[in-house]
Amino acid sequence: MDTKIQIKDRFFTPYISKEKIAEAVARVASQMNEDLAGKNPLFLCVLNGAFVFAADLFREIKVDSEISFIRMKSYEGMHSTGEVKQIYGLQQDITDRTVVVVEDIVDTGFTIQQLLKQLYAHNPKEVKVATLLFKPESLKCDVKPDYVALEIPPAFIVGYGLDYDEQGRNLKDIYVVVED
Ligand code: IMP
Repeated sequence: MDTKIQIKDRFFTPYISKEKIAEAVARVASQMNEDLAGKNPLFLCVLNGAFVFAADLFREIKVDSEISFIRMKSYEGMHSTGEVKQIYGLQQDITDRTVVVVEDIVDTGFTIQQLLKQLYAHNPKEVKVATLLFKPESLKCDVKPDYVALEIPPAFIVGYGLDYDEQGRNLKDIYVVVED
């Protein structure tokens, strides 16, 4: 694995190798292949961060399934109660379908909580959440991902689709920030 790298004003050090990531992705995919057989699930990749994970995960999926791509866009709410994010780009009718949300990381859980609420308004049969990374100690919501590739402590990471100020998504390994 490479050594320390710099992205903009911060330094990052190797944290999870591409081999470890591949192992973890294969493990969750094999669990999904057991659970989702016969359900023709619709995978919904949450852009931008999850695109690398979704591409690798989906190629390990052996059951009949579809994939599509959505975004969570922020906007200022009418009331000043903090950030509200809304689904953007959902093309399919998900009524009565098994949906698998594919996320890069669940940190505080607010994004996934808002996403789930909005998806359930379309009356799907069920919604499962698959995430590459989960920071359980940062969680501030009552949500629990169904499929977690890797659990990590609450540190800022980049690579394998995840960015620091839009940079670093192309790194094959995952790096963690070096605190000053
Ligand atoms: P949450 O709403 O706090 O769970 O955060 C979800 C989003 O924050 C993720 O989809 C990421 O885009 C971003 N995020 C959270 N932690 C990190 C990190 O360590 N590195 C890069 N992006 C992160």
